[in-house]
Amino acid sequence: MIDHRPWLPLQGQMSSRLDFEVLLRDFTTFRVGGAAGIMARPEKSGELRTLVNLARELGLPVLVLGGGSNLLFSDSGFAGLVIKLGRSFATIENLGGGRILVGAAAAVLELLAWAWEKELGGLECLAGVPGTVGGALAGNSGIGGQTVGRIVNRLFILGEDGEAKVLKETELKFSSRRLFGLSPEAVILGAEFNLKPRPKIEIRSNITEALERRHQTQPLGERSAGCVFKNPPGQSAGRIIEECGFKGYVYGGARVSEIHANFIIARAGATCADILTLMELIRRGVSEKYGLLLEPEIRIIGPTGEVGHEMA
Ligand SMILES: Cc1cc2nc3c(=O)[nH]c(=O)nc-3n(C[C@H](O)[C@H](O)[C@H](O)COP(=O)(O)OP(=O)(O)OC[C@H]3O[C@@H](n4cnc5c(N)ncnc54)[C@H](O)[C@@H]3O)c2cc1C
Repeated sequence: MIDHRPWLPLQGQMSSRLDFEVLLRDFTTFRVGGAAGIMARPEKSGELRTLVNLARELGLPVLVLGGGSNLLFSDSGFAGLVIKLGRSFATIENLGGGRILVGAAAAVLELLAWAWEKELGGLECLAGVPGTVGGALAGNSGIGGQTVGRIVNRLFILGEDGEAKVLKETELKFSSRRLFGLSPEAVILGAEFNLKPRPKIEIRSNITEALERRHQTQPLGERSAGCVFKNPPGQSAGRIIEECGFKGYVYGGARVSEIHANFIIARAGATCADILTLMELIRRGVSEKYGLLLEPEIRIIGPTGEVGHEMA
């Protein structure tokens, strides 16, 4: 457990909500994981900066949490500061000429609805992706090769040094489900996107098609974090895992989905260790049969930050 005393004076001074030993499982779609030492829900940039600076002074790790739909927290939790941006970081502004400014805490779903209403297309690659705009940017989310990174003009961040910065498109390295070049402790505050005028009917039909495909191929009503492994170049991780006989395979409270073999379902009582062990069994099986080493797509967070898959 971390020392809460340095944080107590902030509780009275700030409008931001500050809680201690908060169960992270309540903030993720997997619904597993231990407690965060401190969870802050800032509503003001100045307060966010104060929180990040104090964590830095105390040598504590910082993690930004969006909708928790791509995260697996360790059973022993996170011994640092978890930041969950408040609703004042969820604004959406039309700048004209197809450019829009979106706060990182905006839900992807609300952004899609807003863009449809304004007849602006280009975000349909996020149809059905749960979570927030910040999470989508950090993970270059999308469907297949159609990812959100392609339509970003500028990114607004609070660097790990507590300084606000604007990064231009040319300074950003979006790659397979990752945004490189950002410190893991940087907070994405928002982004400017470049959209195209498009009739409502066309946007709606693209979204409907994507959602229907998702309903047919993914276990949407269950506790998961989406695809567990990245697709190897030109191949489908789900198909490979299925060919290795893992569909429906169970380890403890974790099960490989019968609908999509790249989804792991957390059943009642599942732990992070169950999910990691199942991931390791799949990796070994795939490596033995195909000589391929699958890379995790989900972010695995240990007590001091993101780790590889080898935590179990
Ligand atoms: C049923 C289901 C289907 C899915 N389908 C897809 C899909 O088709 N395509 C796809 O790409 N993903 C998919 N996902 C995975 C996930 O929804 C996406 O990766 C999503 O964009 C994550 O957003 P989030 O807000 O939940 O991020 P979180 O899970 O909260 O965080 C993910 C990462 O982003 C970082 N992060 C979040 N916000 C910020 C911020 N403001 N500043 C800095 N870092 C930040 C976190 O620290 C973490 O490292 C699916 C998940 C589920 C459960």
